[in-house]
Amino acid sequence: MPWVLDLDGVIRLGEQPIAGAAEAVALLRAAGEEVVFATNNAYRSIRDQEAALDAIGIPADGAVVGAAQAGASLLEPHERVLVVGGPGLVEEVEARGCTLVEDGPCDAVISGLDRQFHYDALRRAGLAIRGGARWILTNPDPTFPTPHGLEPGAGALGAAIRAAGGADPLIGGKPEGAMVGLIRDRLGGDGIVVGDRADTDGRFATALGYRFALVFSGVTTEADLPVEPEPWLIADDLLEVVRRTLA
Ligand SMILES: [Mg+2]
Repeated sequence: MPWVLDLDGVIRLGEQPIAGAAEAVALLRAAGEEVVFATNNAYRSIRDQEAALDAIGIPADGAVVGAAQAGASLLEPHERVLVVGGPGLVEEVEARGCTLVEDGPCDAVISGLDRQFHYDALRRAGLAIRGGARWILTNPDPTFPTPHGLEPGAGALGAAIRAAGGADPLIGGKPEGAMVGLIRDRLGGDGIVVGDRADTDGRFATALGYRFALVFSGVTTEADLPVEPEPWLIADDLLEVVRRTLA
């Protein structure tokens, strides 16, 4: 049975590993289960994210699927693409075989979390979209959790681009974007999604046709119940999900 694990709130909180997560992944692999990590983080490169998992005792080579990759899968090789995003997104667009343009006419605009976001990027993206370019947003999350609270995510910047460009984007990441197809092509039609949010991970599981296990190690607490979609299983953390499922 393939397992699709969210990273933030399931495996780690910020840079802190969640207790028992490494043991849980090791138990799954020892039982012969395939494990894939699906993250809407489109800012960091996949290699970087795999290295961060390795560093907390979770071998992850080739096991991370990110929203930048999912967004880039909506591009055609050799398209001219304007990127508004971080190093992870630039890398995926280049890997797809596209030509990066800084300004002027292009076939597509792809945007994500951009920590250097400024008016000129918004101006160029808006003009390109109004000029007929497709717009791809890596992930719709308006915010993401940090030790300082909720900081603006790709969806918050996307709201500005939507206003500037006057169009709606195609979506790369969870819950209903191109990542659904990437995961299903890789893992097949049956599996388990473990996540800390029903509105993203739960809806992602529904879109995949997989079971959804909700954990309380991230943003959702017992006080938030009931949630939609209704989880197949609710547990304190990934280790409890794994122990109860493999038992
Ligand atoms: Mg999460």
